[in-house]
Amino acid sequence: MRLIFIGPPGIGKGTYATAVSERYGIPHISTGDIFREEVKRGSELGRKVKKYLEAGELVPDEIVIEVVRERLKKEDCRKGFILDGYPRTLRQAEELDKMTSIDLVLNFHAPDEVIIERLGGRRICVKCGAIYHVKFMPPKKPGICDKCGGKIIQRKDDTPEVIKHRLEVYRRVFTPIINYYKEKGILLDVYAGEPANIVIPRILKLLEEHGFKPEK
Ligand code: ADP
Ligand code: ZN
Repeated sequence: MRLIFIGPPGIGKGTYATAVSERYGIPHISTGDIFREEVKRGSELGRKVKKYLEAGELVPDEIVIEVVRERLKKEDCRKGFILDGYPRTLRQAEELDKMTSIDLVLNFHAPDEVIIERLGGRRICVKCGAIYHVKFMPPKKPGICDKCGGKIIQRKDDTPEVIKHRLEVYRRVFTPIINYYKEKGILLDVYAGEPANIVIPRILKLLEEHGFKPEK
């Protein structure tokens, strides 16, 4: 089962990808995660992409396409995969079509207000990185991390103004990609404006309805 997940920041894609990955025994491949990992390791690839990540700009197609091509050749992709964060340009989409065939593209969506509430309420521990939410997952003592006693803060890019800008950038980049798969007839819109314990069963049901049998 070869899937692509598309969705704005804060939609919960990582959580859904983990659930589908476990149920179907296929890897979750996030190009953003791959690049961040390479930057951390200080590899040659990491050194090449660092400046783009830091500026929030797209990594050049030639680099991304090769990374994905090599990743999809690995043994663990034989039964399928979930691609997350790729493709981001039409050229990347066309190159992907030459490498493999995609079964379904899940397009996660929710009203902007829901995303702003989720990301805007997110808090993070400066010391250990634990994530909280003022409404959905508050710490026991306000402002203090349950795990390590560190101070809990809001990330600069989680303020409403910056979130709105991130949503605009998301739409600009992904609208042509969404249209590309819509025209191919393999795009499925999935409503993700509810908690994960509702969205995940919805996704799994959808996949079964499309004839994909889970491993477990
Ligand atoms: P975000 O942090 O916006 O959710 P990702 O984690 O998917 O985005 O990606 C982080 C960064 O990695 C992007 O800002 C970009 O620099 C780079 N990147 C990831 N995937 C791609 C891609 N398909 N094409 C170009 N650049 C990419
Ligand atoms: Zn902490």
